[in-house]
Amino acid sequence: MLMSKVAIIGSGVSGLTLGIGLIEQGHDVSIFTGLSGKDWMTKVPPTGTACRFAGSLDLENELGINHWDGTTPINGVHLTFSPKYSSKPGKPGRQLLDLMGRFSRPALAIDVRLQSYRWEKDFEERGGKTVIGNVDLEGLDKIAQEHDITFVAAGKAEIGKLFDVDEERSIYAKPQRKLALITIKNVDMDRSKDGIHFTHGIKFNFYGSDGEQFSVPYWHKDGYQCWSLVFEAKEGSAIDKFDNAKTGSEVLDVAKSVFKEMYPWDYNWIKNAELTDEKGWLKGAVHPCYKKPVAKLPSGTAVMAVGDTANTLDPIGGQGANNNYRQIKVLLSEFKNNTAGDYSEAWMNATFDKYFNEIGYNTNRFNNTLLEPLTKAGQRMLISQYGSTGKEGDDSIQQMIADAFVENFDNPNNITDTFHDDAKAKAWINKQSGGRAGAIDLSGKLAIAKGQLRQVFGMPRSAHPLA
Ligand SMILES: Cc1cc2nc3c(=O)[nH]c(=O)nc-3n(C[C@H](O)[C@H](O)[C@H](O)COP(=O)(O)OP(=O)(O)OC[C@H]3O[C@@H](n4cnc5c(N)ncnc54)[C@H](O)[C@@H]3O)c2cc1C
Repeated sequence: MLMSKVAIIGSGVSGLTLGIGLIEQGHDVSIFTGLSGKDWMTKVPPTGTACRFAGSLDLENELGINHWDGTTPINGVHLTFSPKYSSKPGKPGRQLLDLMGRFSRPALAIDVRLQSYRWEKDFEERGGKTVIGNVDLEGLDKIAQEHDITFVAAGKAEIGKLFDVDEERSIYAKPQRKLALITIKNVDMDRSKDGIHFTHGIKFNFYGSDGEQFSVPYWHKDGYQCWSLVFEAKEGSAIDKFDNAKTGSEVLDVAKSVFKEMYPWDYNWIKNAELTDEKGWLKGAVHPCYKKPVAKLPSGTAVMAVGDTANTLDPIGGQGANNNYRQIKVLLSEFKNNTAGDYSEAWMNATFDKYFNEIGYNTNRFNNTLLEPLTKAGQRMLISQYGSTGKEGDDSIQQMIADAFVENFDNPNNITDTFHDDAKAKAWINKQSGGRAGAIDLSGKLAIAKGQLRQVFGMPRSAHPLA
Protein backbone atom coordinates (compact mmCIF):
# COMPACT_ATOMS: atom_id res chain seq x y z
CA MET A 1 0.00 0.00 0.00
CA LEU A 2 1.19 3.51 -0.87
CA MET A 3 2.14 5.55 2.16
CA SER A 4 2.48 9.25 1.43
CA LYS A 5 3.82 12.00 3.64
CA VAL A 6 1.04 14.53 4.06
CA ALA A 7 0.99 17.94 5.76
CA ILE A 8 -2.14 19.85 6.72
CA ILE A 9 -2.19 23.44 7.96
CA GLY A 10 -5.07 23.94 10.40
CA SER A 11 -6.90 21.91 13.06
CA GLY A 12 -10.47 23.04 12.47
CA VAL A 13 -13.15 20.56 11.39
CA SER A 14 -11.71 20.51 7.86
CA GLY A 15 -8.06 19.84 8.77
CA LEU A 16 -8.92 17.18 11.34
CA THR A 17 -11.52 15.21 9.34
CA LEU A 18 -9.14 15.18 6.38
CA GLY A 19 -6.17 14.26 8.59
CA ILE A 20 -7.98 11.41 10.34
CA GLY A 21 -9.38 10.17 7.01
CA LEU A 22 -5.88 10.03 5.51
CA ILE A 23 -4.43 8.24 8.53
CA GLU A 24 -7.18 5.64 8.11
CA GLN A 25 -5.89 5.16 4.54
CA GLY A 26 -2.41 4.45 5.92
CA HIS A 27 -0.66 7.76 5.23
CA ASP A 28 1.84 9.58 7.41
CA VAL A 29 0.04 12.80 8.37
CA SER A 30 1.20 15.89 10.25
CA ILE A 31 -1.03 18.81 11.21
CA PHE A 32 0.56 22.22 11.71
CA THR A 33 -1.81 24.52 13.58
CA GLY A 34 -1.97 27.81 15.40
CA LEU A 35 -4.30 26.29 18.02
CA SER A 36 -3.67 23.33 20.33
CA GLY A 37 -6.69 21.32 21.47
CA LYS A 38 -6.58 23.18 24.80
CA ASP A 39 -6.45 26.55 22.99
CA TRP A 40 -9.62 25.63 21.11
CA MET A 41 -11.38 25.06 24.45
CA THR A 42 -10.16 28.18 26.23
CA LYS A 43 -8.98 30.88 23.85
CA VAL A 44 -11.31 31.24 20.87
CA PRO A 45 -14.94 31.56 19.85
CA PRO A 46 -16.46 28.81 17.68
CA THR A 47 -15.71 29.43 13.98
CA GLY A 48 -19.45 29.26 13.36
CA THR A 49 -22.56 27.36 14.42
CA ALA A 50 -21.56 24.58 12.04
CA CYS A 51 -24.83 22.66 12.12
CA ARG A 52 -24.11 19.52 10.14
CA PHE A 53 -26.73 17.51 8.34
CA ALA A 54 -27.00 13.72 8.18
CA GLY A 55 -24.94 13.28 5.01
CA SER A 56 -22.03 15.10 6.68
CA LEU A 57 -22.43 13.18 9.92
CA ASP A 58 -22.03 9.99 7.86
CA LEU A 59 -18.39 10.99 7.32
CA GLU A 60 -17.85 11.33 11.10
CA ASN A 61 -19.46 7.89 11.57
CA GLU A 62 -17.26 6.33 8.91
CA LEU A 63 -14.16 7.76 10.58
CA GLY A 64 -15.34 6.66 14.04
CA ILE A 65 -15.21 10.20 15.45
CA ASN A 66 -18.95 10.59 16.07
CA HIS A 67 -18.64 11.12 19.81
CA TRP A 68 -21.77 13.23 20.22
CA ASP A 69 -24.58 11.14 18.69
CA GLY A 70 -27.88 11.77 20.42
CA THR A 71 -26.73 14.88 22.33
CA THR A 72 -29.09 17.35 20.61
CA PRO A 73 -30.58 15.65 17.55
CA ILE A 74 -32.17 18.28 15.33
CA ASN A 75 -35.14 16.88 13.47
CA GLY A 76 -36.64 19.80 11.61
CA VAL A 77 -36.77 23.43 10.55
CA HIS A 78 -39.47 25.97 11.33
CA LEU A 79 -39.27 28.93 8.98
CA THR A 80 -41.31 32.11 9.34
CA PHE A 81 -41.31 34.37 6.30
CA SER A 82 -42.34 38.02 6.47
CA PRO A 83 -41.87 40.12 3.33
CA LYS A 84 -41.39 43.55 4.86
CA TYR A 85 -40.37 44.94 8.23
CA SER A 86 -42.13 48.04 9.51
CA SER A 87 -40.66 50.18 12.27
CA LYS A 88 -44.12 51.17 13.57
CA PRO A 89 -44.06 50.34 17.30
CA GLY A 90 -45.73 47.00 17.96
CA LYS A 91 -46.26 46.30 14.24
CA PRO A 92 -43.06 44.77 12.92
CA GLY A 93 -44.62 43.42 9.76
CA ARG A 94 -47.03 40.71 8.88
CA GLN A 95 -45.87 37.11 9.04
CA LEU A 96 -46.80 35.79 5.63
CA LEU A 97 -46.23 32.10 6.02
CA ASP A 98 -44.56 29.32 7.96
CA LEU A 99 -42.86 26.18 6.83
CA MET A 100 -42.33 23.25 9.18
CA GLY A 101 -40.16 20.69 7.44
CA ARG A 102 -38.90 17.47 9.00
CA PHE A 103 -35.48 15.96 8.33
CA SER A 104 -35.50 12.28 7.39
CA ARG A 105 -32.39 11.86 9.59
CA PRO A 106 -31.29 14.21 12.40
CA ALA A 107 -28.67 16.95 12.13
CA LEU A 108 -26.26 18.00 14.92
CA ALA A 109 -24.60 21.31 15.79
CA ILE A 110 -21.65 20.44 18.01
CA ASP A 111 -19.41 23.23 19.28
CA VAL A 112 -16.42 23.09 16.92
CA ARG A 113 -14.13 24.02 19.81
CA LEU A 114 -14.99 20.75 21.55
CA GLN A 115 -14.64 18.79 18.33
CA SER A 116 -11.20 20.15 17.53
CA TYR A 117 -10.09 19.42 21.11
CA ARG A 118 -11.34 15.83 20.98
CA TRP A 119 -10.40 15.09 17.37
CA GLU A 120 -6.85 16.29 17.90
CA LYS A 121 -6.56 13.55 20.55
CA ASP A 122 -8.13 11.00 18.15
CA PHE A 123 -5.70 12.09 15.45
CA GLU A 124 -2.66 11.66 17.70
CA GLU A 125 -3.88 8.36 19.15
CA ARG A 126 -4.09 7.00 15.62
CA GLY A 127 -0.52 8.03 14.86
CA GLY A 128 -0.90 11.60 13.57
CA LYS A 129 1.63 14.28 14.55
CA THR A 130 0.58 17.77 15.64
CA VAL A 131 2.91 20.77 15.54
CA ILE A 132 1.61 23.87 17.33
CA GLY A 133 2.47 27.34 16.03
CA ASN A 134 1.42 29.71 13.31
CA VAL A 135 2.92 28.92 9.92
CA ASP A 136 4.11 31.81 7.75
CA LEU A 137 4.80 31.74 4.04
CA GLU A 138 8.44 30.76 4.46
CA GLY A 139 7.50 28.01 6.92
CA LEU A 140 4.79 26.76 4.58
CA ASP A 141 7.24 26.53 1.71
CA LYS A 142 9.64 24.48 3.84
CA ILE A 143 6.82 22.17 4.99
CA ALA A 144 5.57 21.74 1.41
CA GLN A 145 9.03 20.72 0.20
CA GLU A 146 9.34 18.14 2.95
CA HIS A 147 5.98 16.46 2.21
CA ASP A 148 4.46 14.66 -0.79
CA ILE A 149 1.41 16.90 -0.57
CA THR A 150 0.42 19.86 1.61
CA PHE A 151 -3.12 21.06 2.26
CA VAL A 152 -4.01 24.49 3.62
CA ALA A 153 -7.11 24.17 5.82
CA ALA A 154 -6.61 27.49 7.61
CA GLY A 155 -10.21 28.69 7.45
CA LYS A 156 -10.49 32.35 6.53
CA ALA A 157 -7.07 33.22 7.99
CA GLU A 158 -4.54 35.52 6.32
CA ILE A 159 -2.45 32.68 4.91
CA GLY A 160 -5.43 31.68 2.74
CA LYS A 161 -4.86 34.83 0.68
CA LEU A 162 -2.22 32.77 -1.10
CA PHE A 163 -5.09 31.35 -3.12
CA ASP A 164 -6.59 33.76 -5.64
CA VAL A 165 -10.33 34.26 -5.81
CA ASP A 166 -11.76 32.35 -8.75
CA GLU A 167 -13.55 35.21 -10.49
CA GLU A 168 -15.21 32.95 -13.05
CA ARG A 169 -16.90 30.72 -10.50
CA SER A 170 -17.63 33.37 -7.83
CA ILE A 171 -20.66 35.60 -8.23
CA TYR A 172 -20.17 38.13 -5.42
CA ALA A 173 -17.38 40.69 -5.12
CA LYS A 174 -18.00 41.29 -1.40
CA PRO A 175 -19.91 40.07 1.68
CA GLN A 176 -23.70 40.12 1.35
CA ARG A 177 -24.61 40.29 5.05
CA LYS A 178 -23.21 41.66 8.31
CA LEU A 179 -23.09 38.79 10.79
CA ALA A 180 -23.41 38.33 14.53
CA LEU A 181 -23.34 34.99 16.34
CA ILE A 182 -24.12 34.39 19.99
CA THR A 183 -24.37 31.22 22.07
CA ILE A 184 -27.04 31.37 24.77
CA LYS A 185 -28.41 29.31 27.67
CA ASN A 186 -31.32 29.63 30.11
CA VAL A 187 -33.71 29.32 27.19
CA ASP A 188 -36.16 26.44 26.55
CA MET A 189 -34.85 23.68 24.29
CA ASP A 190 -38.37 22.33 23.90
CA ARG A 191 -40.45 24.83 21.93
CA SER A 192 -43.63 22.79 21.73
CA LYS A 193 -45.47 25.41 23.77
CA ASP A 194 -44.70 27.85 20.92
CA GLY A 195 -46.31 25.37 18.50
CA ILE A 196 -43.04 24.01 17.13
CA HIS A 197 -43.42 20.25 16.94
CA PHE A 198 -39.79 19.21 16.79
CA THR A 199 -37.72 17.73 19.59
CA HIS A 200 -34.97 20.13 18.61
CA GLY A 201 -35.89 22.34 15.69
CA ILE A 202 -34.00 25.08 13.90
CA LYS A 203 -35.97 28.35 13.89
CA PHE A 204 -35.54 30.67 10.90
CA ASN A 205 -37.01 34.19 10.80
CA PHE A 206 -36.82 35.70 7.32
CA TYR A 207 -37.58 39.32 6.49
CA GLY A 208 -37.44 39.81 2.73
CA SER A 209 -36.62 43.48 3.37
CA ASP A 210 -33.99 43.32 6.12
CA GLY A 211 -32.28 39.98 6.42
CA GLU A 212 -32.51 36.80 8.44
CA GLN A 213 -32.07 35.34 11.88
CA PHE A 214 -31.71 31.69 12.75
CA SER A 215 -31.49 29.81 16.05
CA VAL A 216 -29.96 26.34 16.21
CA PRO A 217 -30.13 23.81 19.07
CA TYR A 218 -26.49 23.43 20.03
CA TRP A 219 -24.21 21.17 22.08
CA HIS A 220 -21.86 23.45 24.02
CA LYS A 221 -18.16 22.65 24.50
CA ASP A 222 -18.74 22.31 28.26
CA GLY A 223 -21.24 19.51 27.70
CA TYR A 224 -24.79 20.86 27.78
CA GLN A 225 -27.63 21.80 25.42
CA CYS A 226 -28.05 25.44 24.51
CA TRP A 227 -28.70 27.57 21.40
CA SER A 228 -26.52 29.21 18.78
CA LEU A 229 -28.12 32.32 17.28
CA VAL A 230 -27.04 33.95 14.03
CA PHE A 231 -28.12 37.38 12.77
CA GLU A 232 -27.75 38.09 9.04
CA ALA A 233 -28.21 41.83 8.54
CA LYS A 234 -28.53 43.57 5.22
CA GLU A 235 -26.40 46.69 5.56
CA GLY A 236 -28.36 49.61 7.06
CA SER A 237 -31.35 47.37 7.85
CA ALA A 238 -33.21 47.11 11.16
CA ILE A 239 -31.12 44.01 12.04
CA ASP A 240 -27.88 45.92 11.44
CA LYS A 241 -27.49 47.03 15.08
CA PHE A 242 -24.42 45.16 16.29
CA ASP A 243 -21.65 47.58 15.25
CA ASN A 244 -21.16 49.08 18.71
CA ALA A 245 -21.46 45.83 20.66
CA LYS A 246 -17.94 45.04 21.89
CA THR A 247 -18.52 42.22 24.39
CA GLY A 248 -20.63 39.09 24.52
CA SER A 249 -23.07 40.67 26.96
CA GLU A 250 -23.45 43.71 24.68
CA VAL A 251 -24.13 41.43 21.69
CA LEU A 252 -26.71 39.62 23.81
CA ASP A 253 -28.43 42.91 24.78
CA VAL A 254 -28.68 43.92 21.12
CA ALA A 255 -29.88 40.43 20.17
CA LYS A 256 -32.71 40.67 22.71
CA SER A 257 -33.72 44.14 21.53
CA VAL A 258 -33.75 42.96 17.88
CA PHE A 259 -36.00 40.06 18.88
CA LYS A 260 -38.32 42.34 20.83
CA GLU A 261 -38.67 44.73 17.93
CA MET A 262 -38.61 42.40 14.95
CA TYR A 263 -39.63 38.93 16.12
CA PRO A 264 -42.06 39.62 18.98
CA TRP A 265 -43.52 36.14 18.42
CA ASP A 266 -40.19 34.71 19.70
CA TYR A 267 -39.35 37.34 22.32
CA ASN A 268 -40.73 35.52 25.36
CA TRP A 269 -38.59 32.58 24.41
CA ILE A 270 -35.34 34.57 24.47
CA LYS A 271 -35.90 37.29 27.04
CA ASN A 272 -34.14 35.53 29.95
CA ALA A 273 -31.22 34.25 27.86
CA GLU A 274 -27.66 34.35 29.23
CA LEU A 275 -24.35 34.09 27.43
CA THR A 276 -22.91 30.56 27.66
CA ASP A 277 -19.28 31.67 27.94
CA GLU A 278 -17.22 34.83 27.53
CA LYS A 279 -15.93 33.70 24.12
CA GLY A 280 -19.25 32.40 22.79
CA TRP A 281 -19.89 35.14 20.25
CA LEU A 282 -18.65 36.46 16.91
CA LYS A 283 -19.16 39.42 14.61
CA GLY A 284 -18.02 39.87 11.04
CA ALA A 285 -18.84 39.16 7.44
CA VAL A 286 -18.02 36.48 4.92
CA HIS A 287 -17.25 37.04 1.27
CA PRO A 288 -18.97 34.11 -0.45
CA CYS A 289 -16.47 32.97 -3.06
CA TYR A 290 -14.48 30.15 -4.57
CA LYS A 291 -10.72 30.25 -4.53
CA LYS A 292 -8.42 28.75 -7.11
CA PRO A 293 -7.65 25.48 -5.30
CA VAL A 294 -3.91 25.51 -6.03
CA ALA A 295 -1.22 28.08 -5.10
CA LYS A 296 2.46 28.06 -5.98
CA LEU A 297 5.01 28.90 -3.28
CA PRO A 298 8.28 30.77 -3.91
CA SER A 299 10.12 27.44 -4.35
CA GLY A 300 7.64 26.46 -7.05
CA THR A 301 5.96 23.80 -4.86
CA ALA A 302 2.17 23.62 -5.20
CA VAL A 303 -0.19 23.47 -2.18
CA MET A 304 -3.91 22.76 -2.16
CA ALA A 305 -6.71 24.67 -0.36
CA VAL A 306 -9.31 22.76 1.67
CA GLY A 307 -12.44 23.75 3.59
CA ASP A 308 -13.20 27.44 4.14
CA THR A 309 -9.82 28.32 2.63
CA ALA A 310 -10.99 26.85 -0.70
CA ASN A 311 -14.62 27.96 -0.71
CA THR A 312 -16.39 30.26 1.72
CA LEU A 313 -20.16 30.56 1.99
CA ASP A 314 -22.35 33.00 3.84
CA PRO A 315 -23.82 31.13 6.86
CA ILE A 316 -27.42 31.73 5.73
CA GLY A 317 -28.05 28.17 4.56
CA GLY A 318 -25.87 26.41 7.14
CA GLN A 319 -23.78 25.06 4.29
CA GLY A 320 -20.16 26.06 5.12
CA ALA A 321 -18.96 23.11 7.19
CA ASN A 322 -21.28 20.76 5.28
CA ASN A 323 -19.69 21.93 2.09
CA ASN A 324 -16.23 21.29 3.56
CA TYR A 325 -17.20 17.71 4.39
CA ARG A 326 -18.53 17.26 0.85
CA GLN A 327 -15.18 18.43 -0.51
CA ILE A 328 -13.26 16.20 1.90
CA LYS A 329 -15.32 13.13 0.94
CA VAL A 330 -14.28 13.65 -2.70
CA LEU A 331 -10.67 14.27 -1.65
CA LEU A 332 -10.54 11.07 0.42
CA SER A 333 -12.02 9.03 -2.39
CA GLU A 334 -9.63 10.52 -4.98
CA PHE A 335 -6.72 9.88 -2.61
CA LYS A 336 -7.71 6.23 -2.38
CA ASN A 337 -7.86 5.94 -6.18
CA ASN A 338 -4.50 7.68 -6.55
CA THR A 339 -2.40 4.53 -6.25
CA ALA A 340 0.44 6.09 -8.25
CA GLY A 341 0.88 8.89 -5.70
CA ASP A 342 0.50 11.61 -8.34
CA TYR A 343 0.01 14.79 -6.30
CA SER A 344 0.67 17.16 -9.15
CA GLU A 345 -1.02 20.49 -9.68
CA ALA A 346 -3.15 18.80 -12.36
CA TRP A 347 -4.34 16.18 -9.84
CA MET A 348 -5.23 18.90 -7.31
CA ASN A 349 -7.21 20.89 -9.88
CA ALA A 350 -8.97 17.79 -11.21
CA THR A 351 -9.92 16.72 -7.66
CA PHE A 352 -11.39 20.13 -6.86
CA ASP A 353 -13.25 20.19 -10.21
CA LYS A 354 -14.75 16.81 -9.37
CA TYR A 355 -16.08 18.15 -6.07
CA PHE A 356 -17.34 21.32 -7.81
CA ASN A 357 -19.22 19.37 -10.48
CA GLU A 358 -20.57 16.66 -8.17
CA ILE A 359 -21.88 18.86 -5.34
CA GLY A 360 -19.97 22.13 -4.82
CA TYR A 361 -21.80 24.05 -7.54
CA ASN A 362 -25.28 23.20 -6.23
CA THR A 363 -24.25 23.78 -2.62
CA ASN A 364 -23.08 27.30 -3.42
CA ARG A 365 -26.02 27.96 -5.72
CA PHE A 366 -28.56 26.86 -3.11
CA ASN A 367 -26.90 28.93 -0.39
CA ASN A 368 -26.70 32.01 -2.61
CA THR A 369 -30.37 31.56 -3.59
CA LEU A 370 -31.24 32.19 0.05
CA LEU A 371 -29.33 35.50 -0.03
CA GLU A 372 -31.40 36.76 -2.96
CA PRO A 373 -35.07 37.80 -3.25
CA LEU A 374 -37.38 34.79 -3.36
CA THR A 375 -37.73 33.45 -6.92
CA LYS A 376 -41.15 32.87 -8.49
CA ALA A 377 -40.53 29.13 -8.29
CA GLY A 378 -39.52 29.47 -4.62
CA GLN A 379 -42.72 31.39 -3.90
CA ARG A 380 -44.75 28.63 -5.54
CA MET A 381 -43.03 25.97 -3.43
CA LEU A 382 -43.53 27.89 -0.19
CA ILE A 383 -47.19 28.58 -0.94
CA SER A 384 -47.81 24.94 -1.82
CA GLN A 385 -46.41 23.62 1.44
CA TYR A 386 -48.46 26.07 3.54
CA GLY A 387 -50.20 24.10 6.24
CA SER A 388 -47.29 21.78 7.01
CA THR A 389 -47.27 21.15 10.79
CA GLY A 390 -44.02 19.24 11.31
CA LYS A 391 -46.01 16.83 13.49
CA GLU A 392 -45.11 13.19 13.58
CA GLY A 393 -47.60 11.30 11.46
CA ASP A 394 -48.57 14.31 9.32
CA ASP A 395 -48.60 12.68 5.87
CA SER A 396 -50.33 15.52 4.03
CA ILE A 397 -49.05 16.65 0.64
CA GLN A 398 -48.11 20.01 2.20
CA GLN A 399 -45.95 18.19 4.73
CA MET A 400 -44.25 16.11 2.04
CA ILE A 401 -43.40 19.30 0.14
CA ALA A 402 -42.07 21.01 3.30
CA ASP A 403 -39.99 17.92 4.12
CA ALA A 404 -38.51 17.80 0.62
CA PHE A 405 -37.74 21.53 0.89
CA VAL A 406 -35.65 21.14 4.07
CA GLU A 407 -34.02 17.92 2.83
CA ASN A 408 -32.31 20.07 0.21
CA PHE A 409 -30.13 21.52 3.01
CA ASP A 410 -28.56 18.06 3.34
CA ASN A 411 -28.35 17.39 -0.36
CA PRO A 412 -28.49 20.54 -2.51
CA ASN A 413 -28.45 18.33 -5.62
CA ASN A 414 -32.09 17.44 -4.83
CA ILE A 415 -34.07 20.52 -5.85
CA THR A 416 -31.76 23.55 -6.09
CA ASP A 417 -32.46 23.75 -9.81
CA THR A 418 -36.20 23.70 -9.13
CA PHE A 419 -35.94 26.96 -7.13
CA HIS A 420 -34.90 28.71 -10.33
CA ASP A 421 -37.44 27.41 -12.81
CA ASP A 422 -41.16 27.93 -12.25
CA ALA A 423 -42.17 25.27 -14.79
CA LYS A 424 -39.92 22.77 -13.00
CA ALA A 425 -41.37 23.84 -9.64
CA LYS A 426 -44.89 23.25 -10.89
CA ALA A 427 -43.92 19.86 -12.34
CA TRP A 428 -42.21 18.96 -9.06
CA ILE A 429 -45.30 19.87 -7.00
CA ASN A 430 -47.47 17.93 -9.47
CA LYS A 431 -45.25 14.91 -8.94
CA GLN A 432 -45.39 15.21 -5.13
CA SER A 433 -49.17 15.68 -5.16
CA GLY A 434 -50.30 13.28 -7.87
CA GLY A 435 -51.13 16.04 -10.37
CA ARG A 436 -52.76 18.50 -7.95
CA ALA A 437 -50.33 21.43 -8.22
CA GLY A 438 -53.06 23.89 -9.25
CA ALA A 439 -55.44 22.98 -6.41
CA ILE A 440 -52.65 22.99 -3.83
CA ASP A 441 -51.41 26.37 -5.00
CA LEU A 442 -54.90 27.82 -4.73
CA SER A 443 -55.63 26.42 -1.28
CA GLY A 444 -52.22 27.68 -0.03
CA LYS A 445 -52.93 31.17 -1.40
CA LEU A 446 -56.39 31.28 0.17
CA ALA A 447 -55.10 30.19 3.57
CA ILE A 448 -52.28 32.76 3.42
CA ALA A 449 -54.70 35.55 2.35
CA LYS A 450 -57.01 34.68 5.24
CA GLY A 451 -54.09 34.91 7.67
CA GLN A 452 -53.09 38.30 6.25
CA LEU A 453 -56.60 39.65 6.60
CA ARG A 454 -56.82 38.51 10.22
CA GLN A 455 -53.54 40.32 10.98
CA VAL A 456 -54.86 43.53 9.34
CA PHE A 457 -57.65 43.41 11.89
CA GLY A 458 -55.19 42.84 14.73
CA MET A 459 -56.13 39.17 15.20
CA PRO A 460 -53.73 36.25 15.44
CA ARG A 461 -52.93 34.99 11.96
CA SER A 462 -54.97 31.82 12.44
CA ALA A 463 -55.21 28.81 14.63
CA HIS A 464 -53.04 27.13 12.03
CA PRO A 465 -50.18 26.22 11.61
CA LEU A 466 -49.22 27.08 15.17
CA ALA A 467 -52.06 25.00 16.60
C1 LIG B 1 -21.90 32.87 11.97
C2 LIG B 1 -21.56 31.57 11.29
C3 LIG B 1 -22.46 30.51 11.34
C4 LIG B 1 -22.20 29.31 10.66
N1 LIG B 1 -23.11 28.30 10.69
C5 LIG B 1 -22.88 27.17 9.97
C6 LIG B 1 -23.83 26.10 9.97
O1 LIG B 1 -24.87 26.15 10.64
N2 LIG B 1 -23.54 24.98 9.23
C7 LIG B 1 -22.37 24.87 8.54
O2 LIG B 1 -22.17 23.84 7.88
N3 LIG B 1 -21.46 25.85 8.54
C8 LIG B 1 -21.67 26.99 9.25
N4 LIG B 1 -20.71 27.96 9.28
C9 LIG B 1 -19.42 27.73 8.63
C10 LIG B 1 -18.51 26.81 9.46
O3 LIG B 1 -18.45 27.26 10.80
C11 LIG B 1 -17.13 26.78 8.82
O4 LIG B 1 -17.29 26.41 7.46
C12 LIG B 1 -16.17 25.79 9.46
O5 LIG B 1 -16.18 25.86 10.85
C13 LIG B 1 -14.76 26.07 8.93
O6 LIG B 1 -13.88 25.07 9.33
P1 LIG B 1 -12.38 25.03 8.80
O7 LIG B 1 -11.73 23.88 9.46
O8 LIG B 1 -12.34 25.11 7.31
O9 LIG B 1 -11.71 26.39 9.33
P2 LIG B 1 -11.46 26.91 10.83
O10 LIG B 1 -12.41 26.34 11.79
O11 LIG B 1 -11.38 28.40 10.71
O12 LIG B 1 -10.03 26.35 11.23
C14 LIG B 1 -8.85 26.95 10.76
C15 LIG B 1 -7.64 26.34 11.44
O13 LIG B 1 -6.47 26.85 10.80
C16 LIG B 1 -5.54 27.31 11.78
N5 LIG B 1 -4.71 28.35 11.17
C17 LIG B 1 -5.11 29.49 10.55
N6 LIG B 1 -4.02 30.16 10.08
C18 LIG B 1 -2.94 29.40 10.40
C19 LIG B 1 -1.54 29.55 10.18
N7 LIG B 1 -1.02 30.60 9.53
N8 LIG B 1 -0.72 28.60 10.67
C20 LIG B 1 -1.20 27.52 11.33
N9 LIG B 1 -2.52 27.33 11.55
C21 LIG B 1 -3.36 28.25 11.09
C22 LIG B 1 -6.43 27.77 12.93
O14 LIG B 1 -5.68 27.84 14.12
C23 LIG B 1 -7.48 26.67 12.91
O15 LIG B 1 -6.94 25.54 13.57
C24 LIG B 1 -20.97 29.18 9.95
C25 LIG B 1 -20.06 30.24 9.91
C26 LIG B 1 -20.35 31.42 10.57
C27 LIG B 1 -19.36 32.55 10.50
